[in-house]
Amino acid sequence: VTALHMRKALGRFASGVTIVTTAECDDEDSVHGMTANAFTSVSLDPPLVLVSIANRAKMNDRIAETGKYGVSILAGDQEPVSLHFAGAAQQPDLVRFVWRRGVPLLEGALVHLACTVVASYPAGDHTLHVGRVEQLSYDDGHPLVFYTGSFRSLELLGRDEPWG
Ligand code: FAD
Ligand code: NAD
Repeated sequence: VTALHMRKALGRFASGVTIVTTAECDDEDSVHGMTANAFTSVSLDPPLVLVSIANRAKMNDRIAETGKYGVSILAGDQEPVSLHFAGAAQQPDLVRFVWRRGVPLLEGALVHLACTVVASYPAGDHTLHVGRVEQLSYDDGHPLVFYTGSFRSLELLGRDEPWG
């Protein structure tokens, strides 16, 4: 199995897009963010999520240092923010943070999760950081979607929350 085949196959698993963020306690100068789609819900009781971060990404050391991270699930109009935090086209004017539990989160996102790291597992060239969700908020709107290497906006038909 080659890396190219892995990307081609796993790129067919449609995902949302998040910005993972971290900082030293409420220190605006220490904020670091990066785009990630390797994010998943893990447990409801206790409330756990995980992010898979490349060992070579600056974010990996930063999370190890701070012991916490934020996850902002992006809305359909935030593709430029996603590109910015992936190190592509820079759009600093679009970057504004709100703070929850000492964690910076991206303004305009659909969902904000403020997490404390409870475990970090080495996994090949990535590290899995399991986070306990300490606080969350969410909004209605359309999500940004990543599929086969490109971004799409998912227009939802009918009720956005069929489970009520
Ligand atoms: P850098 O590359 O230095 O920073 C990333 C960017 O964020 C830079 O452009 C920088 O300008 C900006 N930035 C950082 N902090 C701030 C700040 N405080 N204010 C303003 N701008 C700031 N990689 C993974 O490891 N896991 C994934 O799940 C993952 N999913 C991805 C999904 C998509 C759709 C894309 C496009 C990329 C994904 N990547 C993922 C790759 C990852 O986003 C990039 O490799 C990223 O550049 C790694 O960031 P870094 O921590 O090394 O820091
Ligand atoms: P792509 O075609 O590389 O990505 C398709 C899928 O392959 C991704 O959704 C992911 O599931 C997987 N993938 C890609 N790169 C990976 C990596 N380094 N480690 C683990 N899984 C990976 O999409 P693209 O538009 O060419 O991506 C832009 C950049 O973002 C590339 O440098 C890519 O490596 C990186 N990226 C990294 C991850 C990740 O680390 N989990 C995920 C997505 C994109």
